[in-house]
Amino acid sequence: MSICDLCESQLDRPGHVPPHPRLVMSATLRTASGQNAFVYRCAHCGQTLLLASPDGEAPDRWTRLDADGWD
Ligand SMILES: [Zn+2]
Repeated sequence: MSICDLCESQLDRPGHVPPHPRLVMSATLRTASGQNAFVYRCAHCGQTLLLASPDGEAPDRWTRLDADGWD
């Protein structure tokens, strides 16, 4: 499953960048550090993106949700 251009350009952007038009919010997670993390799924390529702070203190960023999971 390859990531589409819209998702590619979303990755590593700061959290204040709005989700691209094909992203649909699918879940809200609570991380180990008690932060909220927002899971978005792309209706175009099926990729799952995560909007969350990497360490609970840094500003939110858009990242790719790997099969490895995120903790
Ligand atoms: Zn996509």
